[in-house]
Amino acid sequence: MSSLIACHDCDLIQRLPHISEAGTIQCIRCGAVLHQKIRNSIERTLSLTLAGLVLFGLANTFPFLAFKIGAQVRQTTLLTGIQELYAQGMPELSVIVLLTTVLVPFAQMICMLYILLPLKFRRIPIKLPQVFRFIRHLQPWNMMEVFMLGILVSVVKLAKMAQIIPGVALFSFLALIFVMAAMTASLDSHLIWEKWDEKR
Ligand SMILES: [Zn+2]
Repeated sequence: MSSLIACHDCDLIQRLPHISEAGTIQCIRCGAVLHQKIRNSIERTLSLTLAGLVLFGLANTFPFLAFKIGAQVRQTTLLTGIQELYAQGMPELSVIVLLTTVLVPFAQMICMLYILLPLKFRRIPIKLPQVFRFIRHLQPWNMMEVFMLGILVSVVKLAKMAQIIPGVALFSFLALIFVMAAMTASLDSHLIWEKWDEKR
């Protein structure tokens, strides 16, 4: 089956040829990449999503950072850190951090699982287009790397005052950033729409 596609660069509408192997399709007029076919896109994205969920679990249960001042050790987790922001009179900021570093990434992975798991077994999940579009809308709200940058800056500033011990959650969180980026990159969105079209 072939579908019509408009070139992102020159707007030429053309028929997309069906390719079974991994590769790229270029615009016949300007040479821009119209579609990049990724080998085993569904399986690859699915396994990255599952790995992401495991890392997410670790990042939210284990200690994130520990501060040691003299004999006193204070441990924080991602969620207690957010609670702390709320307690210190920054409710808006705590909500934003909760949303952009915990809720949005979790929702992204759950929605991805909801779409990919049935597709893997040749089934079409209910409301696939809505859920798939929802994932795209969530994407800009995932700001884990911004949060990580903030953590790094504060760690550097605090290093003079206290000894800082990174926890399991910090490394899991860092790995999760890369896994989620790979998850987004390995998803062949054209393939999802193709499957949706076939079964309709
Ligand atoms: Zn073009």
